[in-house]
Parts: sequence; structure tokens; C-alpha cells
Amino acid sequence: QDESNPDRSVAFYSQDMNQGMQERMRIESGLRQALGNGELILYYQPKFEIGSDRIVGAEALVRWMHPTRGLVPPSEFIPLAETTGLIVQVGEWVLEQACAQAAIWQRAGLPPFRLAVNVSAREFTPALPVRVAETLARYQLDPSWLELEITESTLMHDFERVTAIMDRINQLGVALSLDDFGTGYSSLSYLKRFPIHTLKIDRSFTCGIPDDASDCAIAGTIISMAQQLGLRVIAEGVETLEQLAFLREAGCDEVQGYLYSKPVPALDFERCLRENWLLVA
Ligand code: C2E
Ligand code: MG
Ligand code: MG
Ligand code: MG
Repeated sequence: QDESNPDRSVAFYSQDMNQGMQERMRIESGLRQALGNGELILYYQPKFEIGSDRIVGAEALVRWMHPTRGLVPPSEFIPLAETTGLIVQVGEWVLEQACAQAAIWQRAGLPPFRLAVNVSAREFTPALPVRVAETLARYQLDPSWLELEITESTLMHDFERVTAIMDRINQLGVALSLDDFGTGYSSLSYLKRFPIHTLKIDRSFTCGIPDDASDCAIAGTIISMAQQLGLRVIAEGVETLEQLAFLREAGCDEVQGYLYSKPVPALDFERCLRENWLLVA
């Protein structure tokens, strides 16, 4: 046993730790380079309004086109970027790219929709609304085209500070939504204190609809609470017609998920938007 040989267990432990650290440093320096080399790319996933069947929004989701590993999903580098602080530079790139693309769509005369950008807790500083205002101005992008998705972890920080940042974002005309709603530890009283427009029901609840009674109850309760608070509500991770039927019945405003479309490159999203426009027009 390791316990009979403390030196060995220490050796194992530090070897593991070294491997973990080396892996993290490898990813971090790779990501730094990726930012400079233009290896990051945004995919877009449409959000459908249930009542009208129209695309009313899209979520920008970052991917890393790694020269040897191919398309790397955000789960493999965003959490690391969050702990090292590199998320700030990644976030700057994402906002810039999303606004540039939205401005192209705005100028092309496409039907307006809100493009949502994910913002990590570490990016949620007083510098954020300044950067958002500056980026909107530079691309002459109407603020109604932009939305920021934050998670409950962002709300857990200093209340006054977070509220001030949110207020400034709202004053710009940019909407805020609460992502992965129901999975964090924030108290519900936050909902009446923060200026938030939309609740996004987490995929882990959508997933259990319609078979899991608890998930149905939670999703249904979030929807009716949103309605009573005057908030919009969207379900993420909608994959089946049964889930859509349940959400429609419960009064959910919007859906996003593989049932409609996976996140796709800009040109594919644009085609999807034009087709949707023709169909419902
Ligand atoms: P999220 O913001 O909750 O994004 C939703 C995730 O669910 C996306 O994963 C999306 O592809 C996936 N998804 C959507 N519909 C379905 C479905 O029907 N079934 C299944 N199985 N999955 C679905 P993705 O693109 O891998 O992103 C994962 C997470 O990475 C995001 O979760 C977000 O937290 C983070 N992320 C992505 N892009 C950015 C970014 O630009 N900045 C920051 N800070 N975080 C980002
Ligand atoms: Mg999101
Ligand atoms: Mg989410
Ligand atoms: Mg998530």
C-alpha cells in the first residue's frame, strides 16, 4: 500500500500534479497563440419564438480550430481560461467578433434578432459596459441586436458593484439574460433586485422532460415564475417534439436546441435565418 511507503505516494501525487499543471500550461499557451493566430471561431445557434416560429435570437458560441486537434469545444478551454484570467482576452475577441458579424447582418437588411454573447463572471467588471458601448459605436450596431448571457455565479459578487454594471449595460439598450438558470446557488430574491430580461432554463432540466416529474415541475415553475415577474423565458437543450409540446403548453416563450439546429458557422446560420423568414412571412 502507498501508506506503507510515504515517499512513493508523495512521488505519485506530485507526478500527477505536474502532469495536470503541464497540461494546463500547454493549453494556456496554446490558447494565447490561438488568439493571435485567428484560430478561434464563433458558431451560432438560433433561438425560436414558440408562438411565431420565428428566429428571434441566436447565441454565439466559441470554438477553437486547433491546427492538429481539429475543432475544440469550449468545455475544454473556457473553464481553464476562467481560472487563469485569459478569459478576459477571449471575451474581448468574442464580443468584437460577434458585433462585427451582427453589423454585417444588420447592414445586409436581415430581419433583426438578438445575438447573445456569453460573459464569464471574471469579465463582469466596470470595463465591460465601456467596451460594449465602444464596440457598438465602432460597428454602428444597433444595441437591440446584442444581448449578454451571464450565469448566477456573476450575481454572487458584490451586489452594488454588479448592479451598477448591469444598469450601465441596460442604459446602452443591451439586454441581459440569466444562463443555466436553476443550477447555481443564488437566491431567488436576486430576480427582483437585478435588471434581467430573460431566464434560460438549464439544459439539465429540459433533458428530463417529459419523463422526469421533477424536471417537469422545475421547468414549469421557472416558466410561471418568469411570467409573473414579467421576464421572458427560454429553454435550452430542446431535442425532442415532446419537450417542445410540454414547453409550449407551459407557456415558455422561446426554445433553443438540436431539435431546431446545432450551433453552426455564420453562413449556415444566415441561410437558416433567410429560410425561416421566407417560411413564416
Ligand atoms: P451555454 O452558454 O449554456 O451554451 C449552451 C451549450 O449547450 C452549448 O454548448 C450548446 O452547443 C449546447 N446545446 C445547445 N442545444 C443543445 C441540445 O439540444 N443538446 C445538447 N446536448 N447540447 C445543446 P457549447 O457550445 O459546447 O458551449 C458550452 C459552454 O461553454 C457554454 O454553455 C458556455 O458556458 C461556454 N461558452 C461558449 N462560448 C463562450 C464564450 O464565448 N464565452 C464564455 N465566457 N463562455 C462560452
Ligand atoms: Mg449561454
Ligand atoms: Mg446555458
Ligand atoms: Mg452552460
